Amino acid sequence: MCGIIGFIGGEQAAPILLGGLKKLEYRGYDSAGIAILEDGKIEIAKSKGRLEILSDKIEGGRSFFGTVGIGHTRWATHGEPSRINAHPHTNSAGDLAIVHNGIIENYMHLREWLSKKGVQFVSDTDTEVIVHLIDYYLKDN
Ligand code: GLU
Repeated sequence: MCGIIGFIGGEQAAPILLGGLKKLEYRGYDSAGIAILEDGKIEIAKSKGRLEILSDKIEGGRSFFGTVGIGHTRWATHGEPSRINAHPHTNSAGDLAIVHNGIIENYMHLREWLSKKGVQFVSDTDTEVIVHLIDYYLKDN
């Protein structure tokens, strides 16, 4: 089962997100990732494997100064454990990021429908359809 955490506040979000994900490690996972809002842009960091791998890669989160973010430890159901398939997932513009727990039963139908609209998928997850679907409807379709 995955772990999900979000933070919004007056302190650097990344170390807090990593600390929260550490507390959720007991649930089991195969990869981890965070998204941080940095100067109006979303920065993503993801790794396959242990949370320490992600944490070491980003200096315990201290290299991110944003105070808003989300984090996820993934237990793969659709798509192999990998950095690409790890959450968060973003829309094509990279200005929307999501994490998700569970399974989207009709994801293949949604994926085909969005592909016909021109959406390019980068992962093999069911989750990625959600962010593109939100993006699609945010654009007044
Ligand atoms: N079904 C999603 C995936 O495979 C979410 C898995 C989870 O709950 O961690 O990416």
